[in-house]
Amino acid sequence: MGFRSIGTRLTLWYTAVLTLTFVLLGIATYGLLSYGLSREVDNALDGVAQALASQARDRSTPFLPPDVDAAFRRFFGFSPMDRYFDMRDPRGRPDPQQKPNTSEPLPLSREAAQRAAQGLPTFETFTNTSKDPVRVVTMPVVDSGRVINLVRVGMSLESVVRTKRQFLYSLAAMLPLALILAGGGGMLLARRALRPVDQMATTARRISGEDLSGRLDEPGSGDELDRLAVTLNAMLERLDIAFQQIRQFSAAASHELQTPLTILKGELEVALRAERTPAEYKDVLTSALEEIDRISDLVEGLLLLSRSDAGMFRMAHRRMDLAQVVMEVYERAAILAQKQGVVLDLGRMEACTVEGDPEWLHRLMLNIVDNAIKYTPEHGKVTVSLFQDDTWAVIDILDTGIGLSTEEQERIFNPFYRTGKAAAGKEKGAGLGLSIASSIAQAHGGRIDVDSRPGEGSTFHIRLPLVADPVDPLNG
Ligand code: ADP
Repeated sequence: MGFRSIGTRLTLWYTAVLTLTFVLLGIATYGLLSYGLSREVDNALDGVAQALASQARDRSTPFLPPDVDAAFRRFFGFSPMDRYFDMRDPRGRPDPQQKPNTSEPLPLSREAAQRAAQGLPTFETFTNTSKDPVRVVTMPVVDSGRVINLVRVGMSLESVVRTKRQFLYSLAAMLPLALILAGGGGMLLARRALRPVDQMATTARRISGEDLSGRLDEPGSGDELDRLAVTLNAMLERLDIAFQQIRQFSAAASHELQTPLTILKGELEVALRAERTPAEYKDVLTSALEEIDRISDLVEGLLLLSRSDAGMFRMAHRRMDLAQVVMEVYERAAILAQKQGVVLDLGRMEACTVEGDPEWLHRLMLNIVDNAIKYTPEHGKVTVSLFQDDTWAVIDILDTGIGLSTEEQERIFNPFYRTGKAAAGKEKGAGLGLSIASSIAQAHGGRIDVDSRPGEGSTFHIRLPLVADPVDPLNG
């Protein structure tokens, strides 16, 4: 695992957090231990001092070491080696009768003397002795409201210091152990948790643009990595479909371009094989021009679709009354309808304000009305209507033509798709018209749906979002 790997970083973080916790816990425990020990010592010293003070009130003889020992033993359970006992008169001067039972009498601080005069005990720690610090309590002996003596009892804090030091040593010894355990454990955990990621990366490396069929293992555990694998697989599925569509699209596009080019080439070759009359040349050139028109229509359509796929449709955003566009298309299509012997009718017409590009919308509608006329036999009827439905402006184009099966309805918006009947019929077309129409509708925030029955006819519904405040029909 390199330094940049998540596993290493996780381990480092984990170890750092654990070390910090350990140190903080150590500090807190050390603080509690010190406090507890001090309290214990003070309580016991207080007990000893009180006992000796109450004895001092009743006796006239000085205290002997065994007396002091006994008092210590009562409150500590043992008598410390370095214990200290001292008796003073009320003004703090050594009691002439009582010899202090330490070699080194401890000074009486001013504060302790003052507090004793008020009948209050004082606890002090003397650190500037030659040995370990000494804890001393100065306790006034009060008789009938008067301070008659000061009892001073103390002990060396050596054992307390030793206990605390030992605690620190053990803590310091345990720290590296804890670090090793945390680091090792963290590394194992991180490796285990991240192993599926490595496996995923290995599998993902094998999946390429040429072959998108590979999928990542989904352990099915429902955890984050499982969800990641599921999400990535879904993405691969979409990519796979998109790649297939692109491949099909390019194959179909080349095929569609190939046909008119082959015809064109054939016609020109035949024409060149022998001397021709001007009339014959004219025929050949007219036919060649027709093929060139087909090719250029196709290329234009392809360019348009690729632009719309890339979201590069250049469109005006103009507010307009859709009825105007419908009327223009209606008038243009009427000529075609007449040629085909199809009746073109106007149905319901409502004013509908939409925002968009009139030229593109014109093209959209013309594609669909054109189809309706193309795929409706003689004496059939095509009806165009425009109305408002909820938030939509709807253009309905109803025909009594050949109709579409459910399966065909699902596919007619795919580029280059033509139904069997259409392909067999006399009508020319590359199957791009509806894809382009659908792209234009989508670029306007709308959509196209179709209802149809084979042999009975079809209705195409073009839906475009209505704009709240309408344009003035005279100026719009
Ligand atoms: P084209 O008309 O150039 O073939 P389109 O994309 O406009 O391409 O239409 C795709 C196919 O949908 C047509 O080939 C035809 O089979 C079918 N189609 C479109 N409009 C209708 C309609 N009104 N009635 C029946 N079939 C239709």
